[in-house]
Amino acid sequence: MSTAEALAELTRLVQRAHTLGTVGGLLGWDEQVNLPPGAAEQRAAQQAVMAEVMHAAAADSRVGELLARLESPGAGLDADGVAIVRQARRDYDQATRLPADFVRAKAEQESRAFHAWAAAREARDFAGFAPVLARNVDFARREAAFLNPAAPTYDVLLDKYDPGLTAAAVERLFGELRRDLVPLMRAIVASPRAARARELAAGLRGFPVEAQGRFLREVTSRLGFDYRRGRLDVSLHPFCSGTGDDVRLTTRYREDQPLSALLGSVHEAGHGMYEQGLPAAHLGTALGLNAGMAVHESQSRLWENQVARGPGFWWHFGPRWRELFPAQTAALSADDLALVVAPVAPTLIRVEADEVTYNLHIVLRFELERRLFGGDLAVADLPEAWRALSVELLGLAPAHAGEGVLQDVHWGAGLFGYFPSYCLGNMIAAQLWSRVRVVRPGIEEDFARGDFGWLLGWLREHIHAAGRRHSALELVRAVTGEELSPRHLVDYLRARYGSLYLGGSSC
Ligand code: ZN
Repeated sequence: MSTAEALAELTRLVQRAHTLGTVGGLLGWDEQVNLPPGAAEQRAAQQAVMAEVMHAAAADSRVGELLARLESPGAGLDADGVAIVRQARRDYDQATRLPADFVRAKAEQESRAFHAWAAAREARDFAGFAPVLARNVDFARREAAFLNPAAPTYDVLLDKYDPGLTAAAVERLFGELRRDLVPLMRAIVASPRAARARELAAGLRGFPVEAQGRFLREVTSRLGFDYRRGRLDVSLHPFCSGTGDDVRLTTRYREDQPLSALLGSVHEAGHGMYEQGLPAAHLGTALGLNAGMAVHESQSRLWENQVARGPGFWWHFGPRWRELFPAQTAALSADDLALVVAPVAPTLIRVEADEVTYNLHIVLRFELERRLFGGDLAVADLPEAWRALSVELLGLAPAHAGEGVLQDVHWGAGLFGYFPSYCLGNMIAAQLWSRVRVVRPGIEEDFARGDFGWLLGWLREHIHAAGRRHSALELVRAVTGEELSPRHLVDYLRARYGSLYLGGSSC
């Protein structure tokens, strides 16, 4: 069998496993958007069968044989072939290193833990949830030991979402970010305009859902989300799923928070445009997969924050927004609008956080996860450690566990090592944006004309077309010419928020 034949067969098997994954993804989307309430059990049974089928495809011993053939010294693969084989090896090892009974027990534990978390959050009862969380932590430790017994546990957990990422790298990046961000945030919060922005946001009321939906469809289409290959629906928690020619976005509407659905939809459309921009013929292999969680999040944050909170976007879309909501926006001056789309107000709740303070929520969670898996922090001590860090970073102490350690679903669902990618995504977005401003200084004028195509084209060429040939850190280096650094995020926040809140001074 020639190298080309072996690579072709491996590609077929990998793409078949990926296609099965997309079927499972559709069941998941349907569950959150359409499922009749009485069908939960039936859907769980369908999902369990799909999980078995997907695992069997991923762990097919033929994949192992082909990998051994293609990894042999004389295989003579080109760069694309090397990337395909490296990714296939990673997926195959992940599928085969975990014993089937462990995978099943972990899934059962996480399903029970999710429900226990939801009840505990409702009751604000951490003590009742702590033994369940301790079991989740234990499963995560055992999983890491199966996957890579030689590496520190938390590094293995980070690597699941962003290949190659280590706790030491994140700690350095977050340390630098925290040092610069905390004083900037304090200066902004103390400015009189911060109170004005909060007041304006509270005054946005009575935006009919139907017109909100029309507006955000117009916006996301114009930004470049392709509705012939995607759709937008309503769900309890907004998300984006699917890839290639079938990408599903969801949103939720609140009549008194019109910017929430708009910016949330732009965020999900950013994820969606990335998936629509991956090389279609290569879906499922390293040439057609996204580059990991952090890069994915950079694509959503760039559109949501750098673009849709900025001046060019509102020069273009502001008149249409006012036309659709004339009475609701009548009292809002252009200056008011600039403030209200970029508020800064520390909150205890991560998902309600603004663009500046959001990152500090992630720094907090990373710090606790690192200590938890480093053995320096016991599960029982999490609420107190959370409270202390929250005061230190945000200046706020949770009154109960529901607005502290129990607020996020992640740990309850067994997701450890996932949080950092949110903040790394913000850093990557800012670093890409800084590069964009160099190569296209007039980008805000493009936006003011309603032209978002140049930016999408640039992202397509430099990020989307690359698939998963590189790790996040390699990709950032290749596209921007330097290592990932929090400097760009801090500079961007200083420039935008300094001029809005601190009278143009750069703090
Ligand atoms: Zn996102």
